[in-house]
Amino acid sequence: MLHNADLALYRAKGDGRGVARAFAEEMEASARARRTLEADLHAAWRERRFTLAYQPIFEATGGRLAGFEALARWPHPERGLVPPDVFIPITEETGLILPLGAWVLREACHAAAGWPPHLFVSVNLSPLQFRGAQTHQQVRAALEESGLAPQRLELEITESTLLKQGPTVRGTLEQLAAEGITVALDDFGTGYSSLAYLHTLNIGRIKVDRSFVDGVTRCPESLAIVRAIVGLARTLSLRCTAEGIETEAQRRILAEEGCTHLQGFFLGRPGTAEAALALARSTAA
Ligand code: C2E
Ligand code: MG
Ligand code: MG
Repeated sequence: MLHNADLALYRAKGDGRGVARAFAEEMEASARARRTLEADLHAAWRERRFTLAYQPIFEATGGRLAGFEALARWPHPERGLVPPDVFIPITEETGLILPLGAWVLREACHAAAGWPPHLFVSVNLSPLQFRGAQTHQQVRAALEESGLAPQRLELEITESTLLKQGPTVRGTLEQLAAEGITVALDDFGTGYSSLAYLHTLNIGRIKVDRSFVDGVTRCPESLAIVRAIVGLARTLSLRCTAEGIETEAQRRILAEEGCTHLQGFFLGRPGTAEAALALARSTAA
């Protein structure tokens, strides 16, 4: 009974503050599934089964290839490709995100070092990676090992990173910016957009969340939000990437509104390191 009560409590916490949940059989099953997934994740880490996909990012004007975003992939022997939205939160809860995140950095820098020098690589960082002081060292190590110039590395953080880890993040961001690394605010507009961050921290790029891009052709409110974000970026001299471009109409509008960069399935899906290298070479400056 205590065990079941724990499961109900766990669900209540997961569903937010101030809610009550009664135990249901389904909770036991989902807890079991979750434990299996956790064990599989640790096995995958030991056996080095993670890979990175690279999604191209293009200049909005002229359409030239500008770089790639590195995206973690977990090919599961039975489940197929498990999406990062599913496994990253588990690695965050179990602490696996720290070694995994360090690996993603090294691997992405290594790949980018083989591309023509005008292309950047962008790596997603979890808020947890900012908890200690190790982020800066990991980034330096990845750059030194690969020989990649710091100006070719971008680090994507979310607004929640800034909220959760205030003072340590500030110090780390200053160190990174001092070395020439760009910090991008991912999924901008979906969190608690505290606009002061944009100029007090060394943010170099805003990524317009794909939920706004998605609505831009049908919903005047989405267009208004995009306009406000892009205008803000322009005024503060920040680069600005629109994420999740799926149609020509979206591409045209986001370019017209003044985004500097565009990313999305319409322009290019995430692909293997080999595919990225081939694309990078074929479009060399
Ligand atoms: P994100 O950083 O916002 O990455 C963009 C996500 O949007 C990717 O999903 C990408 O495949 C997807 N996407 C790109 N273009 C389109 C489009 O036109 N339409 C639609 N519907 N989707 C598009 P993915 O690879 O599943 O990654 C999801 C999230 O997982 C990422 O969101 C990021 O927050 C997280 N993530 C991925 N890799 C890592 C990693 O190495 N470390 C950490 N901490 N998080 C990661
Ligand atoms: Mg991202
Ligand atoms: Mg994003």
